[in-house]
Amino acid sequence: MRVKDSVKGIALVTGASRGIGAATAMRLGADGYKVCVNYVSNAAAAESVARSIIDAGGEAFCVQADVSKEADVVVLFGAIDSMAYPLKVLVNNAGVLFTQSKLVDMTAERIEKVLAANVTGSLLCAREAVKRMSTEYNGLGGVIVNVSSGASRTGSPNEYIDYAASKGAVDAFTVGLSKEVAAEGIRVNGVRPGLIYTEIHADGGEPNRVDRLASRIPMQRGGTRDEVAAAICFLLSDEASFITGSIIDVTGGL
Ligand code: NAP
Repeated sequence: MRVKDSVKGIALVTGASRGIGAATAMRLGADGYKVCVNYVSNAAAAESVARSIIDAGGEAFCVQADVSKEADVVVLFGAIDSMAYPLKVLVNNAGVLFTQSKLVDMTAERIEKVLAANVTGSLLCAREAVKRMSTEYNGLGGVIVNVSSGASRTGSPNEYIDYAASKGAVDAFTVGLSKEVAAEGIRVNGVRPGLIYTEIHADGGEPNRVDRLASRIPMQRGGTRDEVAAAICFLLSDEASFITGSIIDVTGGL
């Protein structure tokens, strides 16, 4: 069992109740961080992730917050502030997409929901993290990884160009923020997953999307959430100590 003195600090993973976020949270828990498992609606799933971390000898706690809502983000970071450790890691992982469709069939309401969760949510969480990590604000430094998507390169025609556009914005702010805070002890990088086996594809209306498209992937298979989590955790680690403003594709060559 790990003793409290060895805790490296708090690692916040947004959208950690399932998929890539859950896999990342479990790795960070095993690596000695006290993990804040954020979720928006599925408390039972978030608690199960936290329980797995604790059962493996780590530390974790759950906080419900919709990252697209500024008031929720403030509450989320307030919960982190009430812990005995400083925030050292932010993984902006929470993301949404909606039913596959062409732009001509998209409503403003849908587009705004995608941009609010994927862009505004990530920017708000990064803002609060910088206030706590930056040496300009008496912080100890830290690392941010933004989870983008290969969609920012392909554009996701006929499926969800609103989602692809939101991930293009994530890539742009990864580069910009990395330069803004590079001299303040904070590294900012991104990961662009390709076709990964998670439940997000059911939200797009096609649970078996990865299998349908696997033959188009140069490696001829979809990826796993652990393969994405490994890339995220590399960028968070000291092994990546001179890497900032970079974006790693985890796409099997796509
Ligand atoms: P997922 O299985 O659908 O899980 C989404 C997670 O985000 C859940 O934990 C969900 O919480 C949470 N969430 C959704 N909206 C939220 C909000 N407004 N505030 C806080 N949490 C919210 O997704 P995934 O496939 O693991 O994807 C994770 C990230 O990777 C996303 O940014 C996604 O765009 C990106 N990505 C995924 C793929 C892929 O093929 N899977 C490819 C490229 C990029 P609840 O459980 O409470 O609903």
